[in-house]
Amino acid sequence: MKRAYNFNAGPSALPTEVLEKAQSELLDFENTGMSVMELSHRSKEYENVHHTAAHLLRDLLNIPEDYDVLFLQGGASLQFAMIPLNFLDEGKVANYILTGSWSEKALKEAKFIGKTAIAGSAKESNYTFIPDISSLQYNEHDSYVHLTSNNTIFGTQWHTFPSVSHAPLIVDMSSDILSRPLPVKNFDLIYAGAQKNLGPSGVTVVIIRKELLKRNVDHVPTMLRYQTHAEKQSLYNTPPTFGIYMLKEVLQWLKNIGGTEQIAERNQTKANLIYGAIDESEQFYKGHATKESRSLMNVTFTLPTEELTQQFLSEAKEKGFVGLNGHRSVGGCRASIYNGVPVEACEALADFMHSFYQTHR
Ligand SMILES: *Cc1c(COP(=O)(O)O)cnc(C)c1O
Repeated sequence: MKRAYNFNAGPSALPTEVLEKAQSELLDFENTGMSVMELSHRSKEYENVHHTAAHLLRDLLNIPEDYDVLFLQGGASLQFAMIPLNFLDEGKVANYILTGSWSEKALKEAKFIGKTAIAGSAKESNYTFIPDISSLQYNEHDSYVHLTSNNTIFGTQWHTFPSVSHAPLIVDMSSDILSRPLPVKNFDLIYAGAQKNLGPSGVTVVIIRKELLKRNVDHVPTMLRYQTHAEKQSLYNTPPTFGIYMLKEVLQWLKNIGGTEQIAERNQTKANLIYGAIDESEQFYKGHATKESRSLMNVTFTLPTEELTQQFLSEAKEKGFVGLNGHRSVGGCRASIYNGVPVEACEALADFMHSFYQTHR
């Protein structure tokens, strides 16, 4: 069996060791005589998986005591709506920093609920950069400030975060959570769909400052309140048990290889390989993002012509590289190199990029 060089944007590559462990436990989880999928979510075996996953996440990100960790459903996309439903108060403003399609989608949902503002935007450049922190415009009536830490489609990433003190800072970290160490205390709510860096799709991780759970949410339906899930430790209703089991295994794998410091180094090495291939090509490959704003998770680039792009993609496919087509809003190519993508896959891609350039320059 040969594993593909998987550069999919999401769902994306998972560590082979994690898949092998899941395979070995699939029919008989810890002598229960059944798969983890078949366990009651109220059983002690499942509860152990559930709480271990939360504990590992706390451990890996040094999450302070005054935060809750929640496992929800509905993807990051449901968070786009839950956030304003729970936190956008009447007469106040939800303030969004626009750095790509996902920030736009988050803003769109807030508009259904109340008043919004745009603290900064890179839309006019087709999102090639992260706005300068000093240019951001806040409002004394902000209910919260929202940003997207990594822009999956455009390939830009915040390398320094704004410090926001007048209102809660809420961040969509779907495509870079756990890719590097993170000062959780600088944020009030962090959310991430699991299918980029954390596991399979179906689970959404929320890390929320407990203070935010004290808000009055009488107008919000039960399932859409953070309070509901926090009070029941994400067991108010049936959670996505298999997804949470996989999340636990991914977190255990990350801990075993040395945690966020170690993975940050590995991710930098991987990104250097591919950005290196771009920078050494004398503009044959052109990065979409400005250098200062480059994402270590999604590398976006174009070739001199549409014809060469198509040839590059089809030769890459023959060589076993999967998922390199760029998103339609950027065109060209995108290599998503999340935590689960091994260094060897990036070496192989960089080699292929070098040789394709040598042939077609
Ligand atoms: C993938 C992605 C989303 C959408 O996630 P779903 O789980 O499909 O709703 C939102 N934000 C970012 C930054 C993403 O990368």
